[in-house]
Amino acid sequence: MAARDLDAVIVGAGFAGLYMLHRLRGMGFRARVLEAGSGVGGTWYWNRYPGARCDVESVQYSYQFDEVLQQEWQWTERYAAQPELLGYANHVADRFDLRRDIQFNTRVKRAAFDEAQGRWVLETADGARVAATHCIMATGCLSSPNLPQFEGLESFAGTRYHTGYWPKEGVDFTGKQVAIIGTGSSAVQSIPIIAAQAKHLTVFQRTPNYAVPAHNAPLDPEYVRTIKADYPALRARAKQTMTGIDFDYSDQAALETSPEARTREYERRWRHGGLWFLGAYKDLMVDQEANDTAAEFVRGKIRERVRDPEIAELLAPKNTIGCKRLCVDIGYYEAFNRLNVTLIDVSQSPVEAITPRGVKAKGREHEVDAIVFATGFDAMTGALLKIDIRGRGGLALGDKWREGPRAYLGVAMAGFPNLFTITGPGSPSVLTNMLPTIEQHVDWIAESIAHMRARKFGRIEPSLAAEDGWVAHVGEAAGRTLRYTCGSWYLGVNIPGKPRVFMPYIGGFPKYIQKCNEVAAAGYEGFVLS
Ligand code: NAP
Repeated sequence: MAARDLDAVIVGAGFAGLYMLHRLRGMGFRARVLEAGSGVGGTWYWNRYPGARCDVESVQYSYQFDEVLQQEWQWTERYAAQPELLGYANHVADRFDLRRDIQFNTRVKRAAFDEAQGRWVLETADGARVAATHCIMATGCLSSPNLPQFEGLESFAGTRYHTGYWPKEGVDFTGKQVAIIGTGSSAVQSIPIIAAQAKHLTVFQRTPNYAVPAHNAPLDPEYVRTIKADYPALRARAKQTMTGIDFDYSDQAALETSPEARTREYERRWRHGGLWFLGAYKDLMVDQEANDTAAEFVRGKIRERVRDPEIAELLAPKNTIGCKRLCVDIGYYEAFNRLNVTLIDVSQSPVEAITPRGVKAKGREHEVDAIVFATGFDAMTGALLKIDIRGRGGLALGDKWREGPRAYLGVAMAGFPNLFTITGPGSPSVLTNMLPTIEQHVDWIAESIAHMRARKFGRIEPSLAAEDGWVAHVGEAAGRTLRYTCGSWYLGVNIPGKPRVFMPYIGGFPKYIQKCNEVAAAGYEGFVLS
């Protein structure tokens, strides 16, 4: 298809880009996806580290836009592992014949709005150009790996890996001395597996994280049959929850419950496993005292799981549970009972340097064959700002976002006509189940483009006032929760120099859907269509 004929160019072939393409095609639009990788899958294409798996149950971490698809696809485990999730993305791409409109191995370097033509012109790493009326960024929230610039990083003579950029062929650590820096979700998942394989694993921990057990298991066919008998009902229930996950969230307050009953409830949720733990009480994320009761329960579990009391104490977080993303583990704490695992606490004195032979911390050099950087991502804004995005009058997105990201509904920005971000900053995104949240965004974007076509509009752009109002609302909502209180990637604290702004919208999925629907029903209130 000639580039000039495109209605939309979509950047990224993860779950967001795939569905966006399918949806636009279904409405008769001509779209093309540009993808940096050689295959589909986004997060699940890049994050192939050992143990990578989803922390939302697979029956919910899946598309719902096509009933046949959700009936035919068979998840094998409660929490799907990366190969299965990647298989699912590939299945979707094949089933809906999406590949013919996806250009792989194509990294977008620049995207500029051509005001005279009313089109976006994208430039790729090889210098090619693609133009389209609409530009839709499906670049992901956690897709720009963060590699801290440790002194001597380049001097390391062994092999370096980043969990978010793992070699396709996999890595065999058998017989190797390995270091891992970081103890977030990626490390929590990979440490037990690397520990079981490597000769020795040294873990460098700056901040301990709370993890609750996954209790992962093969899916019970009877359970799956029950869900598939009425999948739409489960999906509808999920849309009524803050996180877009069909959980039973309690409407009780921890502080209005007796300590004995509280312990019983935490125990029940602990035995069930997963993120559901934080749904135990409605005040856990808004009241520090309530939060402390859950935190202390988990610390107690860590002390039970880790044999050496000193190591248990180092692994036991002291901060607010759920402030940083809660981890879901499979044998994480038990890994520290192994004789071949050493924990180095770098909370008081940072990693000093990477040397040719290993990692230097607390004045000692730890010699290793390989270093795994499980150091996370430049979340939510990183992937977008890596592209030189220019709106009206050459306005650079980097300049617009100098003090932090600003967008209307997390989906569009003043000064950037016809540019949409799927699950962008200011939308619930990472605080919700990504699949339904992606579908909601994609549907809303597709319908807004259809609305424009039907009324012969060429441009859509939010007003500055609408954007300002939404940004203020996102900030107010964040300020009301405990999530605002720690140095998390939600706030951009993990990236030196990044503005400290709580990026996702914490008001909950139902409220957000309602707002988006109201905006559309009122003829795209807050947007200027011309
Ligand atoms: P992360 O949560 O940001 O963790 C990064 C880790 O690296 C933290 O322990 C951090 O310590 C440490 N670190 C960063 N810079 C460091 C430095 N200079 N020196 C020492 N330590 C340093 O990243 P992630 O584990 O990749 O997870 C990111 C997000 O991806 C998760 O929160 C989750 O939303 C998602 N994820 C989900 C799954 C899943 O579905 N199961 C799996 C993996 C990831 P500090 O805490 O002190 O900054």
